[in-house]
Amino acid sequence: MLISKSEAKRFLFQPYEVCPCESGEKYKFCCYKKSKSVSKKDLNYTPGRIIFEAQKIFRETDFNTCYSFDNKECSHNIIGAHSLQNNGVLDKIATDNHVYNLAFEINKNLPTLKFDKVGKNQASRFNGFCKHHDKAYFSSIEDIAYVGSKEQHFWFAFRAFCFELHRKERLSRHFPKVFRKHPHATKETKILINYTSCKLDLKDKKYEYGRFKEIYETDSYDKLETFQRELPFRVGFTGTTAVAVNVDITGEETINIYNYDENLFIPSLYISVIPRESTSLIIVTRHIDDKCYERLIEKLKQTTDDELLFKYISFCLGEYSENVYFSPTIIDNLSSSEKDIIISAFGSSLNVDPEKRFESLIKGFQLNLFNLTIE
Ligand SMILES: [Zn+2]
Ligand SMILES: [Zn+2]
Repeated sequence: MLISKSEAKRFLFQPYEVCPCESGEKYKFCCYKKSKSVSKKDLNYTPGRIIFEAQKIFRETDFNTCYSFDNKECSHNIIGAHSLQNNGVLDKIATDNHVYNLAFEINKNLPTLKFDKVGKNQASRFNGFCKHHDKAYFSSIEDIAYVGSKEQHFWFAFRAFCFELHRKERLSRHFPKVFRKHPHATKETKILINYTSCKLDLKDKKYEYGRFKEIYETDSYDKLETFQRELPFRVGFTGTTAVAVNVDITGEETINIYNYDENLFIPSLYISVIPRESTSLIIVTRHIDDKCYERLIEKLKQTTDDELLFKYISFCLGEYSENVYFSPTIIDNLSSSEKDIIISAFGSSLNVDPEKRFESLIKGFQLNLFNLTIE
């Protein structure tokens, strides 16, 4: 069932609010007015087409920043920091220095995904740290072997978080550009829902940033709780993300992530899957204030069903993350139906309609990325 007209109304812009294209004019006299004069031909611009265009505009929103807690020490040259390990992780899955990720494309007027080859040095890169902080902050997970300390878990979580924060800030910068180009997009329910959830996400992420800062400054790493698991084989993919997850491993709801109440704080979980020489790591972290995830972590720790664990983590990455990379050799050897399972799991997020997404969620944890192993 699609979102009803009355539900859709709450996302609409009000006539006298400042126009979301950031022209400074009131909406009624800006994009609303412009959208009225859109010709029939322009209306052939389907939501899918607009999403595709939006991706292009997104590429123009990149910006440099340093998410360190003490900017005074910044080295002023922002480098492309890697959200995955600088050395090592992508090497473990790369073929001829390349990896695959899933990129948008339009097929029959609908947005979909395809495997896309990227250089391993470009993959998972974001302009979120200066050279000094990238080195100083992540040294404990880059240069020191993983021992599963609270401090190491903090840095894994923080880096995953900063990658998503940077992406969210870019998203929020790209909406005004989209509206300027397509004024009638200000009336498209799907786009309005994306716009609203982006704004709310960013607000939540800023609050989370403050909590990371507090942990760092007060050395209180025990404010994070982590489930971690070392697997006796190397997986052929890697991913790291900070996302709100609405269901735990037994299918019980944790938090309603489709609640667009702006007074509600919807926290993220911090998830990483890291392939190593002949083992792999799964790391899932929550802030202990986030009671909604208390049982989620508890259940992960208790589960003895590996298959279910793998499917659940695959589900979390597929449903919520764009920061996942695959081994080209492994993907190229899959049948097209095997590839389709991955694409549809990752593509479910293209359905902004909550009902539709819940349907795909109920279909269960079908994908098991942990079957993609490197001998
Ligand atoms: Zn406008
Ligand atoms: Zn810095």
